[in-house]
Amino acid sequence: DNNLESKEDNLIEPDRLKMGTLIGEGEFASVFEGALVDRNGEEVKVAIKTLRNEQLESSRENFRKEAKVMINLNHHCIVKLLGICIGPPLQMIQELVPLGSILQYIDMHPNEINPNFEFQIWAAQIACGMHYLEENRFVHRDLAARNILLSTKYQAKISDFGLSRALSTDKEYYSSLRGGRWPLKWYAPESCKVGHFDHKSDVWSFGITIWEMYSFGASPYGDMKGGEAIALIDKGERLSQPEACPDHIYKKMLQCWTLDSSERPTFKELAEFFKSDPEYINVK
Ligand code: ADP
Repeated sequence: DNNLESKEDNLIEPDRLKMGTLIGEGEFASVFEGALVDRNGEEVKVAIKTLRNEQLESSRENFRKEAKVMINLNHHCIVKLLGICIGPPLQMIQELVPLGSILQYIDMHPNEINPNFEFQIWAAQIACGMHYLEENRFVHRDLAARNILLSTKYQAKISDFGLSRALSTDKEYYSSLRGGRWPLKWYAPESCKVGHFDHKSDVWSFGITIWEMYSFGASPYGDMKGGEAIALIDKGERLSQPEACPDHIYKKMLQCWTLDSSERPTFKELAEFFKSDPEYINVK
């Protein structure tokens, strides 16, 4: 049963919420810091994602889709949805991930990062969370550095399930990419061209995400348009090796960007690769 309101546990009464300051703005929602009062009267800090255009049916629908995906997920590398508050306005109550996205963190603390340590840990955690998502048959479809949040310097969490979909009995998902704004530069060629999404297209996006990280927040393909980036990939070209990226990790990125999706590594392999890397053990 994936009807949110039918699961009473997921519903949070408005009087249990205390709103704090604004911490982020998304496409459909504003995110506030706040507190959730638990049954013993104790307060837990939370993030309250509040729908902005309550009147718009399409916004409500998108917001609910996102909540439906998230309510089923429970993993330390994925932002946890604690429940929803019907409002109005409709609100998602999430665990608070206070340090912002890895992009913001890299931008603010570039000198406090050792690529062979922090990046390695974040990459392992993203792959681990994505492997969990794969086991639960969800495709993320918007994996990008901007959607990886940090709860501490050593705990990255995947967020933003606005484009995520559960795979049906088939192992893939098709979407019409007409209209809307799609993160084409993060998308695998098969997603850009025929709207085909599966775990292997998420692996392509994982490659772009870690490229952003090792490039210290550069934008993939600079100011090229999505279509131009696709043409470049068609010619066999790929994003170049970031200066801070060791050879063996760049090799892994290139494998994520194999045209034949069946030749890309799995998230399980990627999680093991980033965890078992000898350099990771050395710096520890
Ligand atoms: P959208 O899905 O519309 O892009 P996001 O979910 O990405 O919106 O939220 C916008 C911003 O709010 C994020 O970039 C992040 O800075 C902040 N944010 C989102 N969720 C949380 C959270 N659980 N804890 C802390 N900050 C968050």
